Amino acid sequence: MKGQNLNNIQAAIRQGELSVTQVVNHYLAQIEDSLPLNIYIEVFAEEAKKQAQALDEKLAAGESVGKLYGSVISIKDVICYEGHQVTAASKILEGFTSQFTATALQRLLDEDAIVIGRTNCDEFAMGSANENSVYGVTPNGVNSERVAGGSSGAAAVSVQQDTCLVALGTDTGGSVRQPAGFNGVIGMKPTYGRVSRYGVIAYGSSFDQIGVLGQHMEDVGEFLLTMAGEDPMDCTSSSQPVKTESSSQGQVSFAYIDEVMNHEKLHGAIATSSHALMDRLESEGHAVSKVQFPLLKYLVPAYYVLTTAEASSNLGRYDGIRYGYRSEAADSIKNVYQKTRSEGFGSEVKRRIMLGTFVLSSGYYDAYYTKAQKVRRLVTEAIHEIFENHDFLILPTTPNVAWKIGAHQDDPVEVYLSDIYTVIANLTGIPAISLPLATDADGNPFGIQLMSKKFSEAELIAVSEMLIST
Ligand code: GLN
Repeated sequence: MKGQNLNNIQAAIRQGELSVTQVVNHYLAQIEDSLPLNIYIEVFAEEAKKQAQALDEKLAAGESVGKLYGSVISIKDVICYEGHQVTAASKILEGFTSQFTATALQRLLDEDAIVIGRTNCDEFAMGSANENSVYGVTPNGVNSERVAGGSSGAAAVSVQQDTCLVALGTDTGGSVRQPAGFNGVIGMKPTYGRVSRYGVIAYGSSFDQIGVLGQHMEDVGEFLLTMAGEDPMDCTSSSQPVKTESSSQGQVSFAYIDEVMNHEKLHGAIATSSHALMDRLESEGHAVSKVQFPLLKYLVPAYYVLTTAEASSNLGRYDGIRYGYRSEAADSIKNVYQKTRSEGFGSEVKRRIMLGTFVLSSGYYDAYYTKAQKVRRLVTEAIHEIFENHDFLILPTTPNVAWKIGAHQDDPVEVYLSDIYTVIANLTGIPAISLPLATDADGNPFGIQLMSKKFSEAELIAVSEMLIST
């Protein structure tokens, strides 16, 4: 059963060789074996077993079941699941229980997916290493001395360790794709608005999207498209019909940014493997062409100005009155706010609230926030121009492989800069995927990214299947 895709699991169930209960038990055993990796904040073992048994009974009785029967998923601890705790890996949400289920998750549950537990992450999804969690670090699944990536680090390790079929993460600036790359699994982020954000704890609302991590392309595609579609509870969700079939066939065209692929700071093994892949694509008859993208150096600054601004506003609601934790030490209303927030938020979250408040303050608004909005529009126009002549943009997921745990603890800017290749998709709202590419000489995995124009998930999935299958 280890590492099987959903098609194979369902075939074995239909032939009577496997039961849903056995599937759940397999993953629970895997969770047990990987306990030192600190993947799960909470495992829903008994509930998952009960759901599996109910499904087995339905199957035995010949009753109809949802198309995702036999699948087991993990959810990042920022996705609401009614009656279950959700904390965003923060002390400030200690003891908080979801009042409803996120729409995207509900669509999977309606098709009989089973949730095995909630995974660790960076606090409020802010981070690139899964080191900023009140529950501690989740190390890399391939090399436990290194970081898992973030913020959906544990989500990536949950699939890498085969503790579930797919994991739901969120991607505001790369948090699905970057840890996928660092752990040698697939991670896909949809077009902004393709998947409902209702029930997702907000970080940067004009950037956030739920994404899927998995070992098999067909599973990642299936889960993503099942979650997709308009939701009356999220006014930013798109009403465009969900397209499941790719319209492009055969030869396609790829663009690459010269300055990215030949950057002196790009890790040697990543550069070599990326160029080898582009050579392969060309030899298979696809067009691979160089494009210019002079805005590269503005991506990370614009991303951090805008997301911290949005975060400082979104996180205003955690005040000790309505949700979760309240400081014991508070003896006045002002103290309730102040002490609760001081004690409840971790240092990275505080840094971002302060940065966000600063860029939104009246004296600096135009210098930072307005300027970053302008950069966002220019980047979006430049990217759209690329897709007028090319089907896909190809670029590394990260400039580096996973670093040693603690290595950048005192240097947040260094960590922010490592988001350079992923934030393009979130600034512009386009879909993107990270596919496992290779490992460096020390065995550290890294990924290659593909991006495409808005609402072309089906094409992205199809080209990824083509890339992975050969
Ligand atoms: N590393 C980025 C950040 O810290 C991305 C986070 C995310 O996508 N949630 O903001």
